[in-house]
Amino acid sequence: MDRKRMESLGKKRSVIRELFEYGNKRKAEIGDENVFDFSIGNPNAPVPKAVEEELVRLLTERNPVEIHGYTSAPGSAAARSAIADDLNRRFGTDFGAEHLYLTCGAAASLTISFSALVEEGGEVIIFTPCFPEYRVYIETAGGKPVAVPCREEDFQIDFERLESALNEKTSAVIINSPNNPSGAVLSEESIIRLSEILSEAERRFGKRIFLISDEPYREIVYDGIKVPFVTKYYRDTVVCYSYSKSLSLPGERVGYILVSPEIDGWKDVYAAVCGAGRALGYICTPSVFQHMLTSCAGLTADLSVYAKNRELLYGALTEMGFSAVRPDGAFYLFVKSPEANAAAFSERAKKYELLLVPSDDFGLSGYVRISYCVSENQIRRSLPAFRKLAEEYFK
Ligand code: PLP
Repeated sequence: MDRKRMESLGKKRSVIRELFEYGNKRKAEIGDENVFDFSIGNPNAPVPKAVEEELVRLLTERNPVEIHGYTSAPGSAAARSAIADDLNRRFGTDFGAEHLYLTCGAAASLTISFSALVEEGGEVIIFTPCFPEYRVYIETAGGKPVAVPCREEDFQIDFERLESALNEKTSAVIINSPNNPSGAVLSEESIIRLSEILSEAERRFGKRIFLISDEPYREIVYDGIKVPFVTKYYRDTVVCYSYSKSLSLPGERVGYILVSPEIDGWKDVYAAVCGAGRALGYICTPSVFQHMLTSCAGLTADLSVYAKNRELLYGALTEMGFSAVRPDGAFYLFVKSPEANAAAFSERAKKYELLLVPSDDFGLSGYVRISYCVSENQIRRSLPAFRKLAEEYFK
């Protein structure tokens, strides 16, 4: 491990975290209600009642040694079976416990997957804008992130750019749909085209190219839009999932990796996932939450609050003169900065106690990300501040 690199990662917080910490400081100074914090993706939909009740039941009625004890390294077989059953019911697939590895959220799913699937020096294509930590995780796994910008008009994949980025060094391609930060959902047409291009590249380069599908927002979609389940389209798929957003449990650290049974030699790929989990010390995800999943894997929080927030914020900001692609999923609005320098715009927004994340770290300049997983009340109270900010640009 490169100690200097670790030191510098430790010293330099992400822009999102930086703004979040600034917000906490500001809240202590002027009161929570006076800061409009849209910085971080901390879900505010309440945890489902059934999940809370199950956690209480586990803690009060079950044998503590069993509940708090180590499970097997990839996670309890009962929890993994329950997750597989839920996926099979919803997507008509044929997964079993043996295809699943439980993790501490999508972050761990991703770091394990990169370590397991990326060859030393192998390239991983990331579609920008994207979650900034992809770069950190890929580089830590010894890989090289290769950015392929999305089409800016709708944040779908630019296939020409993808085709020119693929080469014999490509180990994997990562997609994230619904997307953080753009809110875009990849259409079925896009997934089909992507699968064709990757299959063709596998043949051309005589090697396997994994598709890593990062899906923490899978259930957060609007207007009845469907998120295609990627294992049904592309054989060499590994899914990284998290319950952080769907069950509103981001601090509890629970998610999974799904190794598609369609992969030729999937057992070896699954073994590599187990090996990477072992090498990184990511074994036995928090056990109480594993046991909770045995009965609650199919639940989601009431995600309709985000649909309401989207309408409110998108409608109000576009009416004020800001422009953004209407998000189809996740809980982010990606707004075009009215000045070229998004960091300067974000600084100016701070004057009105609005915390908006400049987009540069997502791999695309000139935007800010607004996380609308906040109370409707916060959004309503923030609108006069947004209006004052708008007046500085669109008089
Ligand atoms: N991937 C994306 C696209 C995310 O937005 C996030 C968190 O916001 C993660 C991964 C990490 O999720 P988790 O909190 O489950 O580790």
